Amino acid sequence: THDVHIIGGGLAGSEAAWQLAQAGCRVRLSEMRGGGDMTPAHQTDGLAEMVCSNSFRSDDDERNAVGLLHHEMRQMDSLVMRAAAVARVPAGSALAVDRDVFSAEVSQALAQHPNVQVVRERVDTLPSAGLTIVATGPLTAAALADSIVGATGAGALAFFDAIAPIVHRDSIDMDNAWFQSRWNKGDGKDYINCAMNKEQYLAFHAGLMAGEKTVFKEWEADTPYFDGCMPIEVMAERGVDTLRYGPMKPVGLDDPRLATPEFPQGRWPYAVVQLRQDNKLGTLWNMVGFQTKLRHADQVQLFRTIPGLENAEFARLGGLHRNTFLNAPTLLDRQLRLKAAPHIRFAGQITGCEGYVESAAIGLLAGRMVAAERTGRTWQSPPRTTAVGALLAHITGDAEADDYQPMNVNFGLFPPLHDVKKKQRKEAYTDRAKADLSEWLAGEPVLA
Ligand code: FAD
Repeated sequence: THDVHIIGGGLAGSEAAWQLAQAGCRVRLSEMRGGGDMTPAHQTDGLAEMVCSNSFRSDDDERNAVGLLHHEMRQMDSLVMRAAAVARVPAGSALAVDRDVFSAEVSQALAQHPNVQVVRERVDTLPSAGLTIVATGPLTAAALADSIVGATGAGALAFFDAIAPIVHRDSIDMDNAWFQSRWNKGDGKDYINCAMNKEQYLAFHAGLMAGEKTVFKEWEADTPYFDGCMPIEVMAERGVDTLRYGPMKPVGLDDPRLATPEFPQGRWPYAVVQLRQDNKLGTLWNMVGFQTKLRHADQVQLFRTIPGLENAEFARLGGLHRNTFLNAPTLLDRQLRLKAAPHIRFAGQITGCEGYVESAAIGLLAGRMVAAERTGRTWQSPPRTTAVGALLAHITGDAEADDYQPMNVNFGLFPPLHDVKKKQRKEAYTDRAKADLSEWLAGEPVLA
C-alpha cells in the first residue's frame, strides 16, 4: 500500500519521492528501466541517470540563477543536491559530478528509505484515482504519452522543442530597433524589429551557411518535425531570399531610420528580425521563427551582428531536440495539477522546464505539494522572487501559452529590479531570493 504513486524515477521523480518520504508519506516509485524497458538516451538502470553532460552547471549562488537554484534546493533538503555533494568532481565554479556515483547515491537513498518502494515497471495509462505524480521526462514511453494525449487533448503534448533564441529585453539597443507589429495590427506595437540592409543581410546569410551545425541523434531523426519549425539554416540553404520571404520578411514594417519627407513614418527595410514578448513580465523576448541547430557559440557570434542585438544577452539559445512536454501554462494549475484530473500532478521536464536542476527542482516542489495535500495543509507556493518560485510561476501560467517552449531558470523570470544598477542586479536578485526563501521556509514544516 502507498499514499502516492510516482511514475518515472529520473531527476524529478527521485527528488519528489525523497521529499514525500521525508514528510512521512509512503511512495510507490515506478521506473521502467530495470524492468525490461529503456529510453533511447539512458544507458543504465540507475535512478536519476544523467543522460548527457555530467554537470549541474554553475554553483555560483551570488550571481547566477541556476547556482541560486542549487542553494534553494539545499535549503529544502534536496536529495539531488545531497547526492551531488558526495559525487562532486573538480569543475571550477560549476557543480559537476561522477554520474555513476551520483545515480548510485540517489538509488541507494531511496531503496533504503522505509517509506519508498521502488518498482521496476512501465506504466501505460494515467491512474484513474489516487495521488499521482507523472515525472516520465522528455522520453516518456509511447503508451503513456498516448494516455496523456487522451486526457489533455491532441496538440497539448509536444514531441519536439523548436526553440528560438530568447533575449533579455534590457540588452536590446532600442536606438537601433523599434516597436511595431506588421501592418500595425493588434495594438500596433507588439514586436521589436531589427532591420538589415542588403549588405548586412547577405553577410548574415553567408554566416548562417558557414556556421557549424549540430547533428540529430539517430532516434531524433525518425521524429518528423518540419511542419512549421524548420531551422533557419535549412531555410537559408534553399535560396538566398528564402528567409526574406519567411521569418525575415520586411513587408508592412516601417523602419523609422529610413524616413523621408515623402515617407515620414519610414520605409520597409531589406530584411527584418522580429522579437516577440515571451513572458508576462516583459523581460524576455524571443526571436520569431529563429529555431536553429547552429552551435551555441556560432549563434551568439552571428546573432550579435543583427542591428540592435550587438550586445544581446541570451536567456537561452536556439535549439531543436526531441522532447515530450505539455502545454503546462494552460493545462496545469498553480500546483502542477492537471486541471482536468486534479489527482494527477506533473513534474520535471514534461512540464516544460529544461535541464537536470530545473527538473529536479520542480520534482521537489511537486513532492512538497502532494505532502501538503495529503496531510490537509494549505500549500503556499514559494515567492516568485525565488528561483524555484519564478520557475514554477513561469510554467504554471506566466509563460506565453501560444508558443510554449522549454525554459531554463534565468533572471529574466524574476520580477525585475529596474531601480538597481545593471552591474549590481544579479547580486540584488540573489539577495532578495535568499531572504524571501528563508521567510517562506519558516512556514514550511520541518522534515524528518
Ligand atoms: P528523466 O530524468 O528522463 O526521468 C524520466 C524517467 O521516467 C526515466 O527514468 C524513464 O525511464 C522513466 N519513464 C519514462 N516513461 C515511463 C513509463 N511509462 N513508466 C515508467 N517509467 C517511465 N539537461 C541538462 O541539464 N544537461 C544536459 O546535458 C542534458 N542533456 C540531455 C540530453 C538528452 C538526449 C535529453 C533527452 C535531455 C537532456 N537534458 C539535459 C534535459 C533534461 O534535463 C533531462 O532529460 C532530465 O533528465 C529531465 O529530468 P526528468 O526527471 O524530467 O526526466
